[in-house]
Amino acid sequence: MSQETRVRFAPSPTGSLHIGNARTAILNWLFARHTGGSFILRIEDTDLERSSKESEESIYNDLHWLGINWDEGPDVGGKVGPYRQMERTHLYEEYTNKLLANGHAYHCFCTQDELEEMRQKALAEGKTDAWYDGRHRNLTTAQKQAFREEGRQPVVRLKYPDQDITFIDIVKGETTFPAGSTGDFVIVRSDGTPTYNFAAVIDDGLMKISHVIRGDDHLSNTPKQIAVYNALGWKVPIFAHIPMILGPDKSRLSKRHGATSVRGYADAGFLPDALINFMSLLSWSSPSGDEILSIQRLIDEFDFSRVSKSPAVFNVEKLEWMNGMYIRSLAIEKLTDLCLPYLQNAGYHLPERSVLEQIVAMVQENLERLKEIVEKLEFVFADKVIPATAEAVRMIEKESTSKVFWSFLRQLDKVEQLDFARFRQIMKTVSEETGVMGKDLWMPLRVALTGQIHGPDLPKVVDIFGKERCKKLVESALNI
Ligand code: GLU
Repeated sequence: MSQETRVRFAPSPTGSLHIGNARTAILNWLFARHTGGSFILRIEDTDLERSSKESEESIYNDLHWLGINWDEGPDVGGKVGPYRQMERTHLYEEYTNKLLANGHAYHCFCTQDELEEMRQKALAEGKTDAWYDGRHRNLTTAQKQAFREEGRQPVVRLKYPDQDITFIDIVKGETTFPAGSTGDFVIVRSDGTPTYNFAAVIDDGLMKISHVIRGDDHLSNTPKQIAVYNALGWKVPIFAHIPMILGPDKSRLSKRHGATSVRGYADAGFLPDALINFMSLLSWSSPSGDEILSIQRLIDEFDFSRVSKSPAVFNVEKLEWMNGMYIRSLAIEKLTDLCLPYLQNAGYHLPERSVLEQIVAMVQENLERLKEIVEKLEFVFADKVIPATAEAVRMIEKESTSKVFWSFLRQLDKVEQLDFARFRQIMKTVSEETGVMGKDLWMPLRVALTGQIHGPDLPKVVDIFGKERCKKLVESALNI
């Protein structure tokens, strides 16, 4: 019987969910759902100074917003909990004692100065990682006692084996870290807290994780982790290290490239499904070559054979394009719901729901981010319409414009109400009466009513505005 697929996402609660981490969560989740396995959320909160409950909450919220659910985790429980590392310290202690007892780990009492000296010496010899010289590997009981009496608090180090460590990474292929590339490393700090490389292995092992899927910034940790598995006699999981995400200038994605948190994208009005779709395609592609993929299709199609080895460039324009596609596919009720908070925040005085839906529908085609609704509908909710650009001003100042406006006002007086059909009729008459046609006929009116050269269909605007408002706006464009 093959082992059940169990994957985990293990964020440190030191801030809100970063885009890079979200991508890791998404790929783990897709793989779990694709294989019918389990997706586990584990909170790695051993960095007491930087971890916070608020960050943990915000990670839950961001994952929920994305639509990612987990089968086991601190808030939902599960059979191999607890799922917060600081609640698992008894387990780290238990396995530290085992490793001390079986000789794979030892107490090291070196002072900061001694360590620094070793580091400098190794550096002079061109070594950066394997700098610890193993001097406390074989201390006698008496030596240890003496150090303790001096008041030294030991750390625990793992004896790193003097041999190559090779593993098959299902993204990168066979990967070897040669003997001597790492020295005996700390698994428990002098204050008793476990280091990441130790706690992660104890947890992954006890939680029966089958595949460790994470960013390739963790690749260099993997030989250390494998050394811990081997020292415990545990089965090593399958590793998948996903290439990092770059900004458009090919440097590592960072704040200077724009928003880097999921929250930032949510606030700007990206839709969760669009973000998941986009981020899945950062390192993976559908065999069909399609780019717009529903969550169900992503789940059905995702597998590691199509995950790329090379870094992915985060192209915001593509995300915006994709988001626009998702916005256009929304039912108007749903889109209005999603836009409502932005419109309310802007302080707009909103009409009744059915009218609001018509107003939102006017700009649905042109929205790439929900947040843009505020600016796109400013002309509807603002007190005054001001031509937005120099080109818009020129349209209003054209010689033929006042003729068109006067004629329009005269025709307007003849109707009780203005609607779609009457507006078309009026414009036909205005054109006949003034001899003005095409752009020169329509543009000035568009600018008078919306301030813009481009925008929603004019008859739709007129239909929503009604006769009195159109009249007032055209009069004000004429300065009367
Ligand atoms: N807490 C680690 C991180 O956020 C987890 C790394 C891992 O997946 O092993 O980077």
